[in-house]
Amino acid sequence: MKRIVFCGFRGTGKTEVGKIVARQTGLPFLDTDSLIEQKTGRSIPDIFHEDGEERFRAVEREVIAALPKTDAIISTGGGVVIDPANMEYLRRDSVVFVLHADLDTIADRLAQKPRPPLTGLPLREEIAELLDRRRQHYQAAADFCIDTTETTPEAAAVQVITTLQHGVIPQKNRVPCISFFKSGRIPPRCMDRLTKILSDNPPDPLTRLMGVAGYPCAHSKGPYLFNALFSHYGLDYHYTWFEDPELDEILSVARHLDVKGLSVTIPFKQDIIGLIDEVDEHAAQQIGAVNTVIFSCGVATGYNTDWIGVRKPLVELKGAKAVLLGAGGAAAGAAFALTDLDMDVTILNRTPAKAEELAQRFGCKWGELSDFDAIHPDVVVNSTPLGMKPDDRSPLRDDQLHRDMTVFDLVYTPPVTPLIEAAQRAGCRTITGTEMFIGQAREQFYLFFGIDVPAERMRSYLP
Ligand code: NAP
Repeated sequence: MKRIVFCGFRGTGKTEVGKIVARQTGLPFLDTDSLIEQKTGRSIPDIFHEDGEERFRAVEREVIAALPKTDAIISTGGGVVIDPANMEYLRRDSVVFVLHADLDTIADRLAQKPRPPLTGLPLREEIAELLDRRRQHYQAAADFCIDTTETTPEAAAVQVITTLQHGVIPQKNRVPCISFFKSGRIPPRCMDRLTKILSDNPPDPLTRLMGVAGYPCAHSKGPYLFNALFSHYGLDYHYTWFEDPELDEILSVARHLDVKGLSVTIPFKQDIIGLIDEVDEHAAQQIGAVNTVIFSCGVATGYNTDWIGVRKPLVELKGAKAVLLGAGGAAAGAAFALTDLDMDVTILNRTPAKAEELAQRFGCKWGELSDFDAIHPDVVVNSTPLGMKPDDRSPLRDDQLHRDMTVFDLVYTPPVTPLIEAAQRAGCRTITGTEMFIGQAREQFYLFFGIDVPAERMRSYLP
């Protein structure tokens, strides 16, 4: 048995279901809202009225940090999921069930109950607003989801206990999926581990799978990084390579195995958009590419985190004059990031028509690579693959680099490219593709699990 945590909006049944599961398993039951009331000697609505939400969240964080690490059934307040520190404590060596229900059901269940003032809106609008705001956080929190809209607490408890006994991967799907992975190029030691997880008699039926989807993607170091992070944070997950020329086949296997999420790489970042239920409208839709898919509560949602990996290291250069070299998939995320930082951006590409097309989407200027000399940028971002091959030259001549420039090369294998070497010689500030990789992977981990990994930890686990 493990520590079992229930998260979800108020009125989804966390306390009732939790108490039944506690009775049936013989484990102690703890409710974080009751613990907060005991600790402060006041009711939750009173704490909100008198001290405000910020103070309430601080006490809630203290209560969660002090929860027993041993087996117990824990029911949590509806808003715990928004704080990454809470998710780090709650997820460690635990199984998190997110309970959900439709808006009308929640509104009916909450109509008669006292409630803390969270938005000042009427009940139904408040629920809709908060569900929308917390949606991504509940997705991240969930190891398993249970819809309680038309279910009694007793029936939901049966689903919990059945999941704890058998996991979510249907028995009939386990062994047949092994052949899919065998046709990829998974290193033998990793394949052995995966075969055990997928066997008829797995050592731990609760282990969930995730992975990188691409073709080719056997070179991806993602599995080593993510598996190291899973050990660090006590998460019962295994991350592997989903390498196949057919994206449909990858998604079919992912659904048969009820994976929690996929990182998506070449050549599928665009194609996957048509095959999932929802695409984040802030970035992924505008960029036109998805590199992260989360399967949660029956919905597959796509996000783009590549642009965050470009934006973060450049955040102090808001409004600068930038040149973006290249106009492919990575360039679209970079163009979104640079324009989000209000930079004056010119996209230069070997095929100028592609630069023009991308520039029109993001309101940038465009040109050929030879136009560089007329621009005198503060920032240069290389999104061409030049530098990846051992005999590649730098995309810029030495005399085009000046000490007051920031040069960001998105290429991350090798970590120091001919462009970065030349920029260092010229005295420029340099940012390597590793920084982008770390930035996008941190955001991806946050979307998958709600945990904020410090950049240094991410760096220390890079293979
Ligand atoms: P892509 O879609 O194939 O686009 C490549 C771009 O580079 C195109 O604009 C292409 O120009 C240009 N190009 C290719 N070869 C060239 C050459 N010899 N000379 C001049 N221009 C050339 O590739 P992508 O997905 O955007 O990836 C580009 C790079 O970003 C890769 O090296 C990849 O490793 C890196 N990347 C890094 C991260 C990270 O986390 N650090 C993440 C994603 C990507 P045409 O239009 O003329 O073909």
